[in-house]
Amino acid sequence: MRITVIGTGYVGLVSGACLAEMGHQVVCLDVQVDKIDMLNQGIMPIYEQGLDELVQRNVKAGRLSFTSSYEQAVPSAELISMAVGTPSADDGSVDMQYVWSAAREISKHLTDYVVIADKSTVPVGTAEEVERIVREGSGIECDVISNPEFLREGHAVFDFLQPARIVIGSNSKQATEIMLRAYEHVDCPKLVMDRRSAELTKYAANAFLATKISFINEMAMLAEELGADVTQVAAGIGSDPRIGKDFLRAGLGWGGSCFPKDVRAIRKMGENLGVPLPIVNAAFETNSGTRKRVIDRLENALGGLGDKKVAVLGLAFKDNTDDTRESAALDLIKYLKYRGADVRVHDPVAKVKPHEVNGHELEHVDCPYEACRGAHAVVVVTEWEQFRTLDLVRLKELAEGDVLIDARNLFDPTRAHESGWRHYSVGR
Ligand code: NAD
Repeated sequence: MRITVIGTGYVGLVSGACLAEMGHQVVCLDVQVDKIDMLNQGIMPIYEQGLDELVQRNVKAGRLSFTSSYEQAVPSAELISMAVGTPSADDGSVDMQYVWSAAREISKHLTDYVVIADKSTVPVGTAEEVERIVREGSGIECDVISNPEFLREGHAVFDFLQPARIVIGSNSKQATEIMLRAYEHVDCPKLVMDRRSAELTKYAANAFLATKISFINEMAMLAEELGADVTQVAAGIGSDPRIGKDFLRAGLGWGGSCFPKDVRAIRKMGENLGVPLPIVNAAFETNSGTRKRVIDRLENALGGLGDKKVAVLGLAFKDNTDDTRESAALDLIKYLKYRGADVRVHDPVAKVKPHEVNGHELEHVDCPYEACRGAHAVVVVTEWEQFRTLDLVRLKELAEGDVLIDARNLFDPTRAHESGWRHYSVGR
C-alpha cells in the first residue's frame, strides 16, 4: 500500500519505518526541512533503539523516502497517517494548529479518495473536523479514521511492530478495510470502534497510567512514614493480575511528551463539559507534590542550595530516549539554578537546551563519574540501566559531599550506605 506519514517525529518516523518494514511503500513528510535533509543524509534526528538500522534498511530497499513537499506526498497516497504534534496550549487545552494546518495542506493537494488516519493524540471530535476541512477544501471524498498510537519511547519500534492492540475508530466500512489491510501483518487484537470512542480511548489510557504512577507515589509517602518499603508493596500488589506490575515504580513522578499534556487535555475536556474528573485532578496534584518532595529532600539534606555543587544524572524523561519534554530533570535544574546551585549534568544521550531551563547554559559532562567530581550532592533523575551499575565507592571518592538522592530507586540502600553515602530513595 502507498502510505504517506505526516509529521516525522518520535511517532511519525517510527510509524513510517515500521510500515515500510511491513512491506508498504512509505513517504515520510515533515515541514522541518532540516529534519528531512538529515534523514535524506542517513542521520537520525532522534534517538530510538533499533530505528537507525530499520530506516537505513528500508531506504535501501526503496520502500521508505522523506520529503517536505505535500505536493509530492499527497496525491499518490492511498492512506495518509497523521502524526503531528499536539502540545498543550497555555490554558491546558490542546494546541491544534499543526493538525489543522496538515489537514488544510492535504486538502490543497488531494486528487483522489484517500483514508486519513489520525495517529496524533487529539480531542474527541477531531476526526469529524479534519474530514470536514479536507472534504470542503478539496471537493474530494475522504474518510478520516482515529488510529491512536500507544507506543512507548525507548521501545517504540517493538511496540509498533508488536502492539498490545490496534484501535481503529471508523464510521466507514471502506476505510476500516483499508486500515485493516495496512496492519494485516501485525498480529494483535484490532479493536474497531466509533471515532469518538477511539479518540477518548487514548486519553483514558494515558490518564489511567498516570494515575497508577501517582497512586504508587502516594503509597511511597505512606511507606516512608510507616517504615515500609514501597518497592516490596509494589511487588505485592502488582503480582495480582487485576492490578498488574507495570507503572508501579515510585520515584519522581510522571513527565514526558505525553502524560502531562494529555492529562491536562482530558482535565480541560471535563472542565469544558462541566464533568468533574476528581481522580484525574488528584493524579495531577499528587504528581506535582512528588517532584517537590524530592527537591525538598535534596535541599534539606544539603542545608540549602546556594553555591552547592549538584550533579544531575539523567535528563531524559525516561530511559532509552533523548526526549526531555516535561522531564522532571528540567524542573529540578530550574529550581537548583534559581536557588544558586552550581549544576553539572550527565545523560547517556539527552541534552538540554538553555531555553528549556530558563536560559541557563548547562555543563554537560560525557562521563557520569566526571559529572560527580567535586559534587556536594548527586541526584539520579532518569532510570538509565547503566546508572544502576555505577560504582558507588568510586563515585563517593570523586564527590565532595555525601548526599545521594536516588529518585528512581536504582540502588540497594545497604550498598549505598556502605559506600559512604547518605542515601535517600523514594518510599523505602
Ligand atoms: P514530535 O514533536 O516528535 O513530532 C511531530 C512532528 O510533526 C515534528 O517533526 C513537526 O515538525 C511535524 N509537523 C508539525 N506540523 C506539521 C505539518 N503541518 N506538516 C508536517 N509535519 C508537521 O511529536 P511526537 O512525539 O511524535 O508526537 C506526535 C503525536 O503522537 C502527538 O499527538 C503525541 O501526543 C502522539 N503520541 C506520542 C507518543 C510519544 O511517545 N512521543 C506516543 C503516542 C502518541
